[in-house]
Amino acid sequence: MSHPAPLLDAQTVQALVDAATGARRHAYSPYSLHTVGAAVLDADGRIHVGCNVEVVTLSQSMHAERTAVAAMAVAGGRRLTAVAVVGPYSGVPCAECRQVVWEFAGGDPDVVVVSAPLDEPVELLRLGDVYPRPYGPETKGIDPTRF
Ligand SMILES: [Zn+2]
Repeated sequence: MSHPAPLLDAQTVQALVDAATGARRHAYSPYSLHTVGAAVLDADGRIHVGCNVEVVTLSQSMHAERTAVAAMAVAGGRRLTAVAVVGPYSGVPCAECRQVVWEFAGGDPDVVVVSAPLDEPVELLRLGDVYPRPYGPETKGIDPTRF
C-alpha cells in the first residue's frame, strides 16, 4: 500500500529542525552521551521543544520527544501536527515515543514526523507509516481533548 507524502512546508520543517537542534544542546546524557533534540508543532502553530534527560538508573530517563510533548502539555497544547527529531543515530522516534506522540495526534495518521538524523538528509514521514497499527484514545472511545 502506498501513502501520500506528508505535507509540511519547507519553512516549517526548517523551523522545527532548528528548534530541535537548539534543544539538543541542552540534552543531559552523561551515561549514554547520546544527545537528542525534539520539537513538536501544536495545532495552534506553536513549537515546543524537548531534549533527552538521563538519570543514573537509566530506566527513568526521558526521551526528547516525550519532554517536547510534556512541554506542549504544560503550555496548554493537546494536539500536535508534527514532530521533529534530531539525533545521532535516527530521526525516527522509538516505539515508546511513537505511542506518546500518537496520544496527542488526534487520531491523525497524517501527522508529520520530521526525521533529521545528524549528517543525513531530512526526511518527512507520516506517523501512520511509522506507527501503522496504533493503540490510542480512540481505541477506547475516549476524547482526550476534554482533558
Ligand atoms: Zn523514545
